[in-house]
Amino acid sequence: MDYSINPYFGCEHACTYCYARFLLKVRGEDPTRWGSFVHIKINGVSVLKKEICKAKRGKILFSSVTDPYQPIESKYKLTRKLLEIVLRRQFPVVILTKSNLVLRDIDIFRKFNDIEIGLTVTTISERISKIFEPHAPSPMMRINALSKLSKEFDTYLFLGPIMPVISESEIEEIVETAYNSGVKRIIADRLNMKGGNYLTIREALKNFPLDEVKNFWYSLWDPSYYRKVRVLLHNLSNRFGIPIDFCW
Ligand code: SF4
Repeated sequence: MDYSINPYFGCEHACTYCYARFLLKVRGEDPTRWGSFVHIKINGVSVLKKEICKAKRGKILFSSVTDPYQPIESKYKLTRKLLEIVLRRQFPVVILTKSNLVLRDIDIFRKFNDIEIGLTVTTISERISKIFEPHAPSPMMRINALSKLSKEFDTYLFLGPIMPVISESEIEEIVETAYNSGVKRIIADRLNMKGGNYLTIREALKNFPLDEVKNFWYSLWDPSYYRKVRVLLHNLSNRFGIPIDFCW
């Protein structure tokens, strides 16, 4: 990506593994507060109007440290307004969200010459999703949104973070789901323990049996663990004929 646009500071989806909470840490604030607030960048439209006139053409990610389609977007439509500004210059856009609210903006997406839309699927289990992504739309709602979007646009499924023990048994099912949804590619990411997410992950793990939690930590710190996950994903990529890009 050349640029990223984050219409909000904070994210209502409150994912326990989210490391965007480093934004609080660098301000000397408690990173466990992430997910309990959201600030609207009320001058976002005027700032973007000015900046995009001077900017060299490049690919823009919506968004890198917030979800552009979190619930508050349905009221303020800030992501939509910013997309309308980007559209005037036809910068290529990549969307990443966990919300089916993204379907609202299909009319704008249709006007872009170059747009790719991705939804994150960390797990297919409603229970695991509720523990790790408590306020995000259900995995099924995201998958349905992805299927609809794939009929018209280039789409991708963001498979991540892949969590040892917790979600690893679902990898094959998620890749198959991506294939059935018609996405062009998958982007896979490992669990990154950073930004102050250790405490919230540890809290979430209290919902799992002790032996699973022990295996989780053991695998996470085992350097060979994610190498094996990569091999598995390479094999699935070949089997389903769907490209997979890795973030690690
Ligand atoms: S949706 Fe993305 S930005 Fe929002 S809390 Fe979850 S991981 Fe963080």
